Amino acid sequence: MKRKITRRDFLNGTQVAIGASLLSPWTEVFGADASTFTLPPDYYPPAKAGLRGSHDGSWETMHARVAGTSWPAGPMDEKYDLVIVGGGISGLSAAHFYREERPSARILVLDNHDDFGGHAKRNEFQVNGKTRIAYGGTESIDTPSGYSAVSMAMLEDIGVDVQKFYDYFDQDLYDDMGLSYAIAFDQQTYGTRKLVAGYGSRPWQEFAAETPMSSKAQADLVRAFTDERDYLPGLSRAEKVAKLSSLSYRSYLRDYVKLDEQVLEMYQRWGMSYWCVGMDEVPAIDILGYSDGGTMPGLGQTLPRKGGRGVEPYIFHFPDGNASVARLLVRRLIPEALPGSTMEDSVTARLDYSALDREGAKLRIRLNSTAVNVTHTADSKAVDVTYVHAGKARTVRAAKCIMACYNSAIPYICPDLSEKQRAGLAYNVKVPLTYTKVMVPNWRAFADLAIRFVYFTNDFYKQVELDYPVSLGDYEFAASPDEPMALHMCHVPYFDDIQGPEQWRAGRRQLLETPFSTFEHHVRDQLDQALSGAGFDADKDITAITVNRWAHGYAYSPDLLWEPEYESETDKPWVIGRQPFGRISIANSDAGAAANTDSAIAQSYRAVREVLSS
Ligand SMILES: Cc1cc2nc3c(=O)[nH]c(=O)nc-3n(C[C@H](O)[C@H](O)[C@H](O)COP(=O)(O)OP(=O)(O)OC[C@H]3O[C@@H](n4cnc5c(N)ncnc54)[C@H](O)[C@@H]3O)c2cc1C
Repeated sequence: MKRKITRRDFLNGTQVAIGASLLSPWTEVFGADASTFTLPPDYYPPAKAGLRGSHDGSWETMHARVAGTSWPAGPMDEKYDLVIVGGGISGLSAAHFYREERPSARILVLDNHDDFGGHAKRNEFQVNGKTRIAYGGTESIDTPSGYSAVSMAMLEDIGVDVQKFYDYFDQDLYDDMGLSYAIAFDQQTYGTRKLVAGYGSRPWQEFAAETPMSSKAQADLVRAFTDERDYLPGLSRAEKVAKLSSLSYRSYLRDYVKLDEQVLEMYQRWGMSYWCVGMDEVPAIDILGYSDGGTMPGLGQTLPRKGGRGVEPYIFHFPDGNASVARLLVRRLIPEALPGSTMEDSVTARLDYSALDREGAKLRIRLNSTAVNVTHTADSKAVDVTYVHAGKARTVRAAKCIMACYNSAIPYICPDLSEKQRAGLAYNVKVPLTYTKVMVPNWRAFADLAIRFVYFTNDFYKQVELDYPVSLGDYEFAASPDEPMALHMCHVPYFDDIQGPEQWRAGRRQLLETPFSTFEHHVRDQLDQALSGAGFDADKDITAITVNRWAHGYAYSPDLLWEPEYESETDKPWVIGRQPFGRISIANSDAGAAANTDSAIAQSYRAVREVLSS
């Protein structure tokens, strides 16, 4: 029977997470002395709610390391051919590539979280005896046609056939139901909170007239979309590209399209879930790759687009996002951990966590284990990896090591690196964000209001959207508005007075300090704002909330306005940072300076080639 979750339940869930972290949560899982690493049969992190993502208990050891805590080498009772630090898609891919070449190798993967996959995180909810699946992090194989051959081949090797998503993803459902994109205007900027539906689907005059903007701003918005004007007349295509690359989108809209300040504010946070900065830091040229020039104004006639992102639909999505990629990798590495043999049957198969780290197995994935020191032995013939697990330091010896964690953490873990390489690694400040999943018993309010996505102009959550309509294997998407669904809400810390990586450092701190109750408050407040017109009441219409907090989220990517020009590939900080160091190589998406699966896989392939040839 469906159980109504009360506010008290949410708060209790959070208190359990925080309280447990103070008491070292692993003692609860492993007992006071973790003499075996094998997880118990009922260990199942996807079912956990409350604060997930980088959950409490996953980050404290590494932060203590950064603050100067050190651990002496622990008991050395295991030896491996390869130790991989980081069990995200990159670390798991590295294990896969290495084992392809060395089938009898002994490999250990260490990860500080209670689940594998890194950003590839699965969230599950039980509703009416059925499991609803959601993505807590990386959501889609975006534009697979642009993937490197090595990444595509690996995806195919583990059973992913991207073409099948053309059948599994219902591209027409929301359009056929007439569901549109809406904007929730904020009180501070526009004097009133107001939801206006039909962005991009109604005539612009009609849409603009309903907004709480001034009549000048309304007229400007209409003009920006309907006036077929080249705003950079007289320039060649190459000159336009150069200009639009050196100008922010905000400046372009203000100085060339001459839009009212209220319209500029409407777009200021539009790309927060993608670039994680305001539009005053995003080069105008980037907008073409983001919205095809169609949903954001001003560029369509100035620089008509040719190919690229947008040509391929955004449909390559498993119900748990790319957590399925991580699960399929684990199936390939440890077949007994995930029953079945196809991408379809993997979706609902229950992962047996007790198979990940079994005594005597050649390939072991050890969760809840933070690497704190990775150094060559005195004779340089091996690498000693010290990690903290269940509150105790332990050391394993490895012939080779791959760091598939975060670039910025590596200098603290590998103290022998040169200053130049440390600086290259530290350049990558990861971008903080959260993906919050909100379970509702039905999505009738969206259907009644004829909306699928709400963008909030200036609020805690930047957006709420319906789940992606994808069904495969035994898993069926909630196609009827009367079925339960996990809504997706995205929050990105925003600072209007700091730019560049400093804002991400500040955002990271802010995220870690934000209690679950704050996330919950904004979920309730913003859903009520958006949906109360159709009778939605957050007090009775929310059954569960899971906040996936990624204090270290997207890899840094060098596409923002303040990124310097580099004279050559080898001058790029991330290229300097990822150079092999003795028996240690560096994988992870940071090493490619690109927040995507392709980078995670391709960088692990390179790192494996390095350790094989060194
Ligand atoms: C919210 C979100 C949405 C995204 N959406 C997409 C998307 O739709 N499509 C896409 O292609 N990409 C997306 N990405 C980018 C995503 O980061 C990459 O695609 C990819 O999953 C990164 O894999 P990785 O293995 O390099 O890093 P991670 O997934 O970060 O894995 C690294 C692992 O190493 C662990 N680690 C760090 N330090 C230590 C230590 N000292 N000891 C042990 N373990 C450690 C980390 O905790 C983590 O588990 C998204 C990212 C985020 C955060």
